[in-house]
Parts: sequence; C-alpha cells; structure tokens
Amino acid sequence: MPSEPCSSCDARCCRKYLVAVVPSDVLKISKRLGKTPTEFLNLFPSSDCSCAHSIPLWLRGKEFYLGLRRGGNGCVFLTADNRCSIHKFKPLVCSTFPFLLDGENVAKSNACSKAWEGGEGSRRPLRKYHAELKAMRRKIVEWDWHHSKNGDFPKLMAFLLSTE
Ligand code: SF4
Ligand code: SF4
Repeated sequence: MPSEPCSSCDARCCRKYLVAVVPSDVLKISKRLGKTPTEFLNLFPSSDCSCAHSIPLWLRGKEFYLGLRRGGNGCVFLTADNRCSIHKFKPLVCSTFPFLLDGENVAKSNACSKAWEGGEGSRRPLRKYHAELKAMRRKIVEWDWHHSKNGDFPKLMAFLLSTE
C-alpha cells in the first residue's frame, strides 16, 4: 500500500492476494523482526492458489508458491484496522503495488480499482524487483533440478538466500 488511495481502501490487496517475496525482502524482514524466514513465510500448494508474481517451485514432488504467511485477515502483517505492521520494511511487491512493469512501461494492475497517479516514481524499485525475480528464477531452476527431491523448507530458504 504505497500511499494516498490506500487510506480510503479496505486493504483489498493485502487481504486477497498471496504476497510473493524476493531474497532482499526476506533478509530485510528477518533482520528487522529477529525471526527466521520460515517463521513469517509459508509454502502454498500451487493447486490451491495462483500468484501472478511468485515463481512456482518444487519440493518433494509437489509444486508450491513461496509467500508471506497468511491468517484469517489475509497477509499475516495486516492489522485489524487494515494497516501494514511492517510498513517501513515491507516487500518490494507491496511498496510498488499497484504498479507493475509491462515490458519497459509502468502500468497499473487491474487488481486495484482505485485511481492512481505517479507511477513513474515506481520505475526504479520495479526494475530492482524484476532483476531480483530473474535471479531468483535461476536459483529456483537449480533448486528444482538438484535439491527439491530431498529438501525441506529451511534448506530451501538457505539455498535461495545463499550468494553462491
Ligand atoms: S487495493 Fe489499491 S488502494 Fe487498496 S490498499 Fe491495495 S493498492 Fe491501496
Ligand atoms: S506486508 Fe504489509 S503491505 Fe504487504 S500485503 Fe502484508 S500488510 Fe499488505
């Protein structure tokens, strides 16, 4: 929820969608909360959900999406009064939403029905986000081929966060 239109919204995006993360998000949140990644992330079976931003990955023969944990109100970090409890260090996808990159153009996602201005300001963080997604996609391909059969959630996170 970046700014003004969100103040008159019921945080639909935070309640409805699975929130994808990239490694820098995980490291940032982990450091700020003093928690291990598996304490605030979860693996969601791809058969139960769809996520436009998340990259599917395999673990022991099943396909999952990696995202922020969810509770009864949606994202686990959404407060009862529809505020983000990790606003200062929320994931890149949250700080750039509802904007996305369509090729080289900044576009607004249809998932948010409010009128927005100033999408150009999101270009740089969107580029950073897409560069990280690209690197993460490469790591996930390696994970799927070499480690997914005998891996577990902590091993997956250690692998995705490693810099090798
Ligand atoms: S749906 Fe749109 S207006 Fe509502 S919180 Fe999300 S980004 Fe903000
Ligand atoms: S991290 Fe914050 S902004 Fe992102 S979905 Fe959760 S509550 Fe919303």
